[in-house]
Amino acid sequence: MMPAQPPLGCLDPRLWTTAYELSQQHTDDAGRCTACAMPAPCPKAEAAREAMQRALPPPRRAPTVYHVPTEKVSPPPVGARFPSDRHIGRRRRRG
Ligand SMILES: [Zn+2]
Repeated sequence: MMPAQPPLGCLDPRLWTTAYELSQQHTDDAGRCTACAMPAPCPKAEAAREAMQRALPPPRRAPTVYHVPTEKVSPPPVGARFPSDRHIGRRRRRG
């Protein structure tokens, strides 16, 4: 269930409150909407749910971090093996 008060970070608290009130009027009662008697969830209940989603900020994604080498790394000695070699070898193709 959605909270009555706009959650923290809500982009549009007024839209949230309006949509919440609408969703409270159009509730599911044994498969039928209590306000318009349509099969639940009725179009207004769906619209209210979508409006509340729009009032929320989009899901956060982790920022992309690029590795920028700052110092020159000497090449590994011949025959040296590193755990990351396999991953690099799969992504980069030589030749
Ligand atoms: Zn309804």
